[in-house]
Amino acid sequence: FFSCLDAQKPDPLLSLIEAFASDQRPGKLDLSVGVYRDDHGRTPVMRAVKLAEERLVRDQPSKSYLGPDGDRRFAECLGELVLGRGLSGQARGIQTVGGTGALSIAAGLLGAGGVSRKIWLGTPTWSNHLPLFAAAGLPVRTYSHVDEQGGGFALDAFLAAVQQASPGDAFLLQGCGHNPTGIDPDIATWTKIGRALADRGLIPLIDLAYQGFGAGVEEDARGMRDLLGVVPEAVIAVSCNKTFGLYRDRVGALLCYGNDAAGLDLAMANARGIARCSYSMPPDHGAAVVRTILDDAGLAAIWREELDAMRNRLRATRRALAASPGADALGLGGVAGQGGMFCLLPLDGAQVERLRSRFAIFVAPDGRVNLAALPLERVGAFTEALADVALR
Ligand code: PLP
Repeated sequence: FFSCLDAQKPDPLLSLIEAFASDQRPGKLDLSVGVYRDDHGRTPVMRAVKLAEERLVRDQPSKSYLGPDGDRRFAECLGELVLGRGLSGQARGIQTVGGTGALSIAAGLLGAGGVSRKIWLGTPTWSNHLPLFAAAGLPVRTYSHVDEQGGGFALDAFLAAVQQASPGDAFLLQGCGHNPTGIDPDIATWTKIGRALADRGLIPLIDLAYQGFGAGVEEDARGMRDLLGVVPEAVIAVSCNKTFGLYRDRVGALLCYGNDAAGLDLAMANARGIARCSYSMPPDHGAAVVRTILDDAGLAAIWREELDAMRNRLRATRRALAASPGADALGLGGVAGQGGMFCLLPLDGAQVERLRSRFAIFVAPDGRVNLAALPLERVGAFTEALADVALR
């Protein structure tokens, strides 16, 4: 039967990984895939992670099954990191296979219960969002995430979408460090977003993958926490893969938030059931590492220091880009005030291709640039290359 399956287009971003690996030019620069890289182009294992791994090797008593929830203490510790002590008591969580796994289970939850719900996405958004929800059978609707001036969150477009939505629909919001634009709602706007959703009986689904890559671990969670303060229920998909540098270990959690304990129990039972039919139980190692770090004040302090250093370097890169000659014309004028790893440049396919062929600079096909992989000393060369392809 294989031959009657539909042909699949190659994922343009994943194809770039191969193209970059086989490019022989010295000084080639990969700004496409969303991983942090140091000045030598490496994605090192964080020191706190190595220390936690040493402990696990030494002390782990068993590798027997844990069950579909995965590591329960991991989900508790992560809940506190994400929601803060104040709100974490109103949430329950399970470990998932990365943030993507959490989003998939969230999509399954939204499709369960015999209620037909749509999911609303502000676009542009992470390239996996639309196919993921569509694959789960949820009707997808979109509205513009970015305002007409191109510099801020489009609250008007969001509020118009809220009016068009049917009660019970869900709205996906990225908690901070928006992928691909770097543009987040400002603090005061989060409460307005929450109130608008609550007034119309709509469900917030928050995708949090870049906590700590904007203004700080606590600061980046504040808007989302303000929103949670004014809604009765929410679902939060958390990824630890950027924040702990654990990418291939696939660490994440699904948190369900609300006031009704019986409702939360039902949500968890359903989430568990969805996981059981899919991968049964999540892989342990990465979550055990995160739990070991968050459960130990010393390791947690080392991790925070490392994350702070990554963020400070990223912010210095953003400031240098915004201060470079012709920054506004290149679409870089606003990047210093944005958060997360990415910015989205107004480049067409031919310009992206010229950056690659002439300058060995790889950016995503839609013009998304991973600033967390751009060394400070190469900012000048990058903006010159950009001017060459964009302003000629
Ligand atoms: N959400 C957003 C916005 C992302 O950018 C990503 C990864 O790039 C994810 C979720 C999922 O990440 P992972 O499945 O690696 O945890």
